[in-house]
Amino acid sequence: MKKLLEAIVERNRHWTSQGEVASYIPELSKANRDALGICVVTLDGEEYSAGDYETKFTMQSVSKIVTLMLAILDNGKENVFSKVGMEPTSSSFNSIVNLETKNLNKPLNPMINSGAIATTALIAGETPEEKVERILKFTRRISGNPDIYINEDVYRSEKETGHRNRSLAYFMKSTGVIEGNVEESLDVYFKQCSMEVTARDLARIGALLANDGILPWTGEKIIPREVARIVKTIMVTCGLYDASGKFAVHIGIPSKSGVGGGILSAVPGRMGIGVVGPALDAKGNSIAGVKVLEDLSREMDLSIF
Ligand code: GLU
Repeated sequence: MKKLLEAIVERNRHWTSQGEVASYIPELSKANRDALGICVVTLDGEEYSAGDYETKFTMQSVSKIVTLMLAILDNGKENVFSKVGMEPTSSSFNSIVNLETKNLNKPLNPMINSGAIATTALIAGETPEEKVERILKFTRRISGNPDIYINEDVYRSEKETGHRNRSLAYFMKSTGVIEGNVEESLDVYFKQCSMEVTARDLARIGALLANDGILPWTGEKIIPREVARIVKTIMVTCGLYDASGKFAVHIGIPSKSGVGGGILSAVPGRMGIGVVGPALDAKGNSIAGVKVLEDLSREMDLSIF
């Protein structure tokens, strides 16, 4: 397996020069555009890594699946999906148009920015600090890594420049989707996006989902099977922004990407995969990361379809 991963990473490394690191959050432009790495965690607990798998990056949108799990555990699925839909979108991840025009009175799904901010607003906790602490604690538990922290520079950078997210959140406050303090919800969202991880952390969270909510390395049940199923389904339909359909056709693995260059994948019954490659394509997905997953899916027959 390690040899296969190494070959796939090296074969696709040239793609990194075709992409650009995210720069709309200024601190993200400091990421290493050339990095490309992968980690696989199988359900019998074996781990295999290749390439620049030790590269640290911020979770960004990959954190949306963590907060979706936690929000459902805190509130139940009916309450969460009364505030956010489960339909894919053909608009970009930070689009505002559908909030008004779809006449749903709620964001389309929890994987785009509007839906994720609405989901985060539902996380239990008396104060924003307590909510962030709960998200961090949950992330550490499901990744088996007690050393996950917030990258303060990325957090500050996003908070200073997150005007689009601010406008999404205030719009949702006006329609009643967000009930609490808007700035506090945004602050929690900016911090969850700034959690710093490696491909291994993502692979382990992917393995939890692949294993129906049970941590493969301890046997501990973290989330009900139904919640794992809901999250994986939404990853298939909405996880790669407005490229989710193409990704499903070519790769066919429930996955979630982020503008930090990470992709978390869960192959049901088989493995979790974490990929890092900060150079992004036009839709905001890791350009080389997607190619790596495409090769791995084909060579190991991982598509769920
Ligand atoms: N923190 C980023 C934002 O809100 C996340 C975007 C992403 O990874 O898609 O813009």
